[in-house]
Amino acid sequence: MKPFQSMPWHALIWRQWQQQIQEKRLPHALLLTGLSGLGKRTLGRALAYFLLCTNHQGLQACGKCRSCRFIEAGFHPDLHLLEPEAEGKAIRVDQIRDMASQVQKSSQQGGYKVVIIWPAEALNINAANALLKTLEEPEPNTQFILVSDRPSSLPATLRSRCQIWAVKPPSLEQGKAWLKPQLTNEQNPEVLLKAAGGRPLHALKLATPAAEERRYLLAQVMEALIRGADPIEQASKLKVFPLASLLTNLQSWLADSLRYGVLGEAGVQDSRQLPLYRQFFQLLGQQGLLHLEQELQGMHQQLHTNPNVDLFLESLLIRLMQALSHE
Ligand SMILES: [Zn+2]
Repeated sequence: MKPFQSMPWHALIWRQWQQQIQEKRLPHALLLTGLSGLGKRTLGRALAYFLLCTNHQGLQACGKCRSCRFIEAGFHPDLHLLEPEAEGKAIRVDQIRDMASQVQKSSQQGGYKVVIIWPAEALNINAANALLKTLEEPEPNTQFILVSDRPSSLPATLRSRCQIWAVKPPSLEQGKAWLKPQLTNEQNPEVLLKAAGGRPLHALKLATPAAEERRYLLAQVMEALIRGADPIEQASKLKVFPLASLLTNLQSWLADSLRYGVLGEAGVQDSRQLPLYRQFFQLLGQQGLLHLEQELQGMHQQLHTNPNVDLFLESLLIRLMQALSHE
């Protein structure tokens, strides 16, 4: 079992890289861009695995050499993974300096050294400048792989030092074929893939028991609000949600209700909630839904300045309730 494999929809990029490697013209810095949930980081790691392998078998790492065994064990002295220390935090300049000084030493295994930076938009300005310097004076046999969902947030000077590779979502058929073996018999790959906006890894996340549970709970609460239940009582049921993900869920809920009303069933992303979408559209109408969606966006932006979760949830549901009963 190989630890990092590129995915079927990466095939074109993978083949182009292989050609560049054979012709010894793989640029020393690559920037992988594209939506989240497309396996960009896995693709970067697959490349690292391949470059570090000392005994390639065709287009794949051998899985047997010392280097491959290091990677399988979860640690390789010549593979540097630069990530924020906690989610949402920045990648700091001292992390870049540490990496740069390690990369300057000759490689432990006598071959390539690989640095993966994820998510690259987390580099703070000092870190980005320090990295830029490193990229401007590249060490031999050192491969930099930057991975970003939001490349426009990177300094243009940094972007211009990298060859940019845009990872595209798979076709529906390709995505379904990849997803199906990883789901239970009751789960429908097409429904999940659509609900995830065509992004297979995101679809896989939606298929976890925790995500299914949350979706079910949210549907129950929405149904209760339509029936006129007490919003404060309903709010207490939603405390298990991380607030940001609750707002995201609600926003896609409203967007889907709107699509359902305007475009019909085919326009909907998550087709499992059609009866409730119909009711939402009937009760709120196009204007009401748009308005509420804007309000939620505003709430989303205030999240980090509004730490009282209970109050926030209650006012959110009271607002929803008002909208549902008045408009
Ligand atoms: Zn190997």
